[in-house]
Amino acid sequence: IVHPASEVRRTFLEFFGKKGHEVCASGPLVPANDPTLMFANAGMVQFKDVFTGKDVRPYKRATSSQKCIRISGKHNDLENVGVTARHHTFFEMLGNFSFGDYFKEEAIAYAWDLLTNVYGLPKDRLVVSVFGGEGGIAADDEARSIWRKVTGFSDERIFGLGMKDNFWQMGDTGPCGPCSEIHYYLGDKPDLARFNEEPNDAGHGWMEIWNLVFMQFERSLGPDGQAILAKLPAPCVDTGMGLERIASVLQGKFSNYDSDLMRALVDKAAAISGKAYRASQGDDDVSMRVIADHARTTAFLMAEGVQPDRNGREYVLRRVMRRAIRHGHRLGIERPFLHEVALEVVALMGEQYPELVRRKDLIATQTEQEEVRFRQTLERGLHILDEEIATVRSAGANTLPGPTAFKLYDTYGFPVDLTEVIAAERGIEVDKDGYEKALKEQRVRSQESKLNDEAVVESVWREAIGAVGGAVRFTGYDHEEGEGKV
Ligand code: ATP
Ligand code: MG
Ligand code: MG
Ligand code: MG
Repeated sequence: IVHPASEVRRTFLEFFGKKGHEVCASGPLVPANDPTLMFANAGMVQFKDVFTGKDVRPYKRATSSQKCIRISGKHNDLENVGVTARHHTFFEMLGNFSFGDYFKEEAIAYAWDLLTNVYGLPKDRLVVSVFGGEGGIAADDEARSIWRKVTGFSDERIFGLGMKDNFWQMGDTGPCGPCSEIHYYLGDKPDLARFNEEPNDAGHGWMEIWNLVFMQFERSLGPDGQAILAKLPAPCVDTGMGLERIASVLQGKFSNYDSDLMRALVDKAAAISGKAYRASQGDDDVSMRVIADHARTTAFLMAEGVQPDRNGREYVLRRVMRRAIRHGHRLGIERPFLHEVALEVVALMGEQYPELVRRKDLIATQTEQEEVRFRQTLERGLHILDEEIATVRSAGANTLPGPTAFKLYDTYGFPVDLTEVIAAERGIEVDKDGYEKALKEQRVRSQESKLNDEAVVESVWREAIGAVGGAVRFTGYDHEEGEGKV
């Protein structure tokens, strides 16, 4: 294989290492000192305090390949996974950082040198974007003129984009600044006129590969809530490039899932299901990619000691695992299987991330247990709901009590709207007010953390039960057969 990902990663770190950057190991996925952030979602996370000046390091330049998860908050790519060729829940972000040292000039020159001279990407397949001005903040003409000089591009290859894509801010206040992105064309003929279109499912189109953020302002809010930007005394640079994206580009693939980082996982899912990847329906392929992606997230979170459970990060892990299992069902896999794919992740990435190897057995057993439990829970919950409905009926009533609906949610993970749907089929209503009351009481009891994202998990259950329940028991509540089919 040309340009294996391990080499692409090493080349990046060595390139910046030679340019005086401290080569840092990835920070953890679970941020050490930041309860407000669910998972590290960019390379800069482990350096946050260095950027703001709270932490001082013996170096002013750093480079890393950071484990990232984008599954919550501002960056939630869950719904994209398996559908687009370029989004994952777990991915690695290559980055170089300047803490008040070099700025736009060097950052742009380094990126261009690495991409075109070291990685050897053809210039006619590259375009860049700069902040084009918006919301009273001026366009980044400085970056534009540096790009012109460094690349030799005319303005038609330097796109001016708005706040959403090309302006970065940590929050409503704090450091912020314009960014520049580098995009690569996948497909036959680079077409500048189609820059604004998303790459299509086959991967053809302009794909963002690298984002260079120039932290140059401190943002505060004026008396009328208007943004006030003051110049930072020592501007900083923070860049991020997805390893899966640059590796697939260098390997000549249209999809990250065809790169050596992912394809073995997709193939594993295919082998377990007894179906071939890219052989039949698109939906099967999506399911195989989702399993590949979620197995990585599962293995890496467990390697950091996260276990599937009911709150916060643990909840999110459970959600991801159950989503993968659901897709396994879709493919017709009828036995616990996710642990086998997770072990493949360990085999594939253990060298770079020894924590995977150290926790290998734990990853395997926890994953399998969770899957077994999930299948049992589902069966049991459906059974209990049937019994409760029978009880309501035999009392001559037609309302399922709120606390019962809550118990189904709390103990068996049935979201109340699913309970409502099933109950409604049997002519039974759910006491929603009573349910809400019970829920509130429980929330007070558990003093929920900010991370407890109930809605997120409910949606998983809904999805999971929609598909898994369909296979296990319901022949679907939309169908004429209605209840009682086993
Ligand atoms: P996109 O527009 O493609 O969603 P982004 O603008 O959200 O990407 P950034 O926040 O700029 O991404 O992150 C820096 C880089 O990290 C991107 O240029 C891309 O290479 C990579 N990246 C971002 N999100 C993902 C993801 N979900 N999976 C894989 N790589 C990603
Ligand atoms: Mg994005
Ligand atoms: Mg983008
Ligand atoms: Mg971006």
